[in-house]
Amino acid sequence: MTWFEERIAPGAFLKLQAERTLYSGQSDFQDLAVFETAAFGRVLALDGVVQTTERDEFIYHEMLTHLPLFAHGAARRVLIIGGGDGGMLEEALKHPVERVTLVELDPKVVEVSRQWLPSICGGAFDDPRTDLVIGDGAAFVAETDARYDLVIVDSPDPIGPATVLFSHPFYENCQRCLSPGGILVTQNGVPFLHEDEVTGTHRHLHRLFPQTGFYLAPVPTYTGGFMAFGWASERNLAEPPSDLEARIAAAGLPLAYYNPGIHRAAFALPEYVRKLLD
Ligand code: SAM
Repeated sequence: MTWFEERIAPGAFLKLQAERTLYSGQSDFQDLAVFETAAFGRVLALDGVVQTTERDEFIYHEMLTHLPLFAHGAARRVLIIGGGDGGMLEEALKHPVERVTLVELDPKVVEVSRQWLPSICGGAFDDPRTDLVIGDGAAFVAETDARYDLVIVDSPDPIGPATVLFSHPFYENCQRCLSPGGILVTQNGVPFLHEDEVTGTHRHLHRLFPQTGFYLAPVPTYTGGFMAFGWASERNLAEPPSDLEARIAAAGLPLAYYNPGIHRAAFALPEYVRKLLD
């Protein structure tokens, strides 16, 4: 038994008891580790930062897929930037979408996740609707002619190769890739500890989109309180469709966090977050 420690802020750490290391190695881009814990099941860490865990991945993945997909109501083509663990892909494929393109920089993350995290990715990578692209997400959105109803940025925090996924040109190209009425949603960290992840994204999206904002959900291993999800579109995502309950009921999906009440409540921002957007 060993201890996994992630520094979450100066003088603050997340510490997990690792009962068994399932994989540990270095790819061309980062250090990868998958280990077994009593508290959160299997954990994927990249460069020593928790990316996803078997026990709480459902909160994060449900909130970045079902909320925008039910808000949109007719999404057929989805783009996921990052997301190499396959959890976001698996959740998005529960909807009647035609294609989901996933652009992951590091093929090792996909390989290790498929082998050691089947409870997170399931068979998503083998779904005939899945397009797996190995490459830089920023280059992809700059070059593609494809258009998407939903773009999900499932990136790590803005460190190393992920830094570009928080840049103005990247968001500008995400906007270019959206079909009319399309929606962009982004992983935007824990505002209590990393205010600049929210203020930076807000500054960019506010300049590019008619409607933008954030919604929240508590993801236990993203320590520090609520996690923020950025959104941007021509439509105001904070005003759910009038038939939201009917849309969710008709889909009949197996949900463990997301529901109509959570959809509405997620947009209620506490003052310390709202003030970041002024
Ligand atoms: N849920 C996690 C979080 O909130 O931090 C993110 C999960 S997913 C594992 C993040 C993925 O983004 C990693 O597999 C990483 O390799 C990938 N990634 C980092 N920079 C990228 C880039 N520029 N283009 C595409 N994928 C990138």
